[in-house]
Amino acid sequence: MTIELAKRRKSRQVSLGGFPIGGDAPVSVQSMTNTDTRDVKATINQVNALKNAGCEIVRIAIPDEEAATAFADIKASTDIPLIADIHFDYRLAIATIKGGADGIRINPGNIGGREGVERVISEAEKHNTCIRIGVNAGSMSKNLLEKYGHPTPEAMVESALEHIALFEELDYRNIKISLKSSNVLQCIKAYEMLAERTDYPFHLGITEAGTLISGTVKNSIGIGALLLKGIGDTMRVSLSRDPVEEVKVAYEILRALDLRHRGIEIISCPTCGRCEIDLFGIVERVERELADVVIPLKVAIMGCVVNGPGEAREADIGVAGARGKGVLFKKGEVIEKLPEDKLAEVLITEVRKLIG
Ligand code: SF4
Repeated sequence: MTIELAKRRKSRQVSLGGFPIGGDAPVSVQSMTNTDTRDVKATINQVNALKNAGCEIVRIAIPDEEAATAFADIKASTDIPLIADIHFDYRLAIATIKGGADGIRINPGNIGGREGVERVISEAEKHNTCIRIGVNAGSMSKNLLEKYGHPTPEAMVESALEHIALFEELDYRNIKISLKSSNVLQCIKAYEMLAERTDYPFHLGITEAGTLISGTVKNSIGIGALLLKGIGDTMRVSLSRDPVEEVKVAYEILRALDLRHRGIEIISCPTCGRCEIDLFGIVERVERELADVVIPLKVAIMGCVVNGPGEAREADIGVAGARGKGVLFKKGEVIEKLPEDKLAEVLITEVRKLIG
């Protein structure tokens, strides 16, 4: 049975150094390094770790000139699209565009006034650099805060429309938009409202979402709700954690919505009084040892043979436990009986055989 999502919002397609965003391009996954950008080696290592985890676009913070210089070195060492993240100083934006940035992220409200924006656009034009207009509830203009009292969704949308109008006046359209807030409902509302007013692609994200558990919930509900409505072209899950975890959560969100599938999907039971094996240990080992798999595959790990294979019938392969032993099953059919200490090992070997 296929459940259809809302029809995807028709956004125009823009180019991030040749990487398409919007239009009919799949929703792409981004993350951001948290190394010191000036430490080129450490940052390249993290860029590579993100790429190996399936990240498609990496954003790098540029706090000063030294970081802008380092950015060019990092860019020269990788083929993944890189975005320079800049606040306050348009000269840093210009330096990273010259240094090969595929995209930059700025808040036009704090980059040095209209003149700063004009200078950035003038350099971006020469390289067709994609510019993300990043509206953030935490840094709204004084005028809008006075008008609305708070950074409401209406204020965020008005701010975005003002910035878009300036970019269009300057005839620059290789842009995408984000409206970030740590308030999930406010964020959803703002994107929904802006979707009615413009066709530029949207970068989705819930900012300052928090720790692994609370952040995963906030991101999944916020980004997930928008994707369900067909809104969103690229996304960054934000967590107070190793950014590789952000990429994993992003793919879980996309998988849950049947938008994109990557790697092993573990279907495991919560266990109950019928479980007589160390199920959590097996799940952790299988997940860890199959983390490199890219091909989509459903792997079930169930606590008991009474309900296990049946409950996990849609899985490609799996194991179900009994007292001190278990069975290997494929598509709900039992294939082999195994002692408990062989369950994880055999399952991992069989999965490797399946994916060739
Ligand atoms: S598969 Fe078995 S052990 Fe796991 S929750 Fe279901 S009944 Fe309980």
